[in-house]
Amino acid sequence: MAGESPRLTTPPKPVRIEQVFPELRSLARTTVRLHPRPGRPGTTESSLGGPLLWPADEPWPHCAEFDRHYAFERDLPSEPLPLVPILQLFARDVPELPFPAGTDVCQVLWCPLDHDPLYCPDVQVRWRDSASITRPRTEPPPVDLEYSADNYLPRPCALAPERVTEFPHYSDLDPELARRITAWEEQIERRWRYHYHLSVAPGTKVGGWVHWIQDPIWLTCECGHALEHLLTIASGESDGQSWKTWTPAEEHPGMDANGRPRRRLDRRPADLMIGDVGDVYLFTCPQCEHRPITTLTQCS
Ligand SMILES: [Zn+2]
Ligand SMILES: [Zn+2]
Repeated sequence: MAGESPRLTTPPKPVRIEQVFPELRSLARTTVRLHPRPGRPGTTESSLGGPLLWPADEPWPHCAEFDRHYAFERDLPSEPLPLVPILQLFARDVPELPFPAGTDVCQVLWCPLDHDPLYCPDVQVRWRDSASITRPRTEPPPVDLEYSADNYLPRPCALAPERVTEFPHYSDLDPELARRITAWEEQIERRWRYHYHLSVAPGTKVGGWVHWIQDPIWLTCECGHALEHLLTIASGESDGQSWKTWTPAEEHPGMDANGRPRRRLDRRPADLMIGDVGDVYLFTCPQCEHRPITTLTQCS
């Protein structure tokens, strides 16, 4: 990493929830918070919305679902739009990704338009071997500024990957445990909430549990294997509650007596807005060698 993004550290939680409920310990997972922050990443760096390492002789991809665009009172293009770079992750920065054999770069692109029926941008993933790209593209990729929806065009961001331990989303818990956690929240007068403050990390991240906005949807691949959460691309890094415990210590604004931030906090550093403050979740099959990708979008 070029060092543009300073180290960012999630502070220790105000309550170690796994000490209150030891049965959570076996459900702990590690997620890699990517902490996108505005920067000027290069083609050989991991980034969100930055330039991709792309072979000069490979055509730039266009939307494959041209007939599924959803208008939302906007004019639609008469030809497929060029895809937009969303994420580029090198194995040296995020070795946790299930890179297929012989690859060390994961590239995520999407069509910057709403697609029916989920309003989700059409997402495509490329796995590459960076050493095989001897003649990289030097021209910036085409962007259609006339028809692209601004909310799907990210601000270029450098990444500062950080590993944190997280626990399942409230809705992924055994209902009996979930009920006991709710009762505990009442006991402490809801000073801290399992969902917002103590369990699953919000924001753009790799692996770990899913920060569902609506009900959980766990899928299987065509072969019937259980899909795993590959990564999440989020509209924001936290919400009106979760900022209190998930904002990195280096940026934390502190909290006043009314529980409000002491200074303005930019919770959407990449300037993305997926539907109504939604998240795009990518899933993959760790057993199928070609790593099939399934995409889900949820909005509030
Ligand atoms: Zn499209
Ligand atoms: Zn499979």
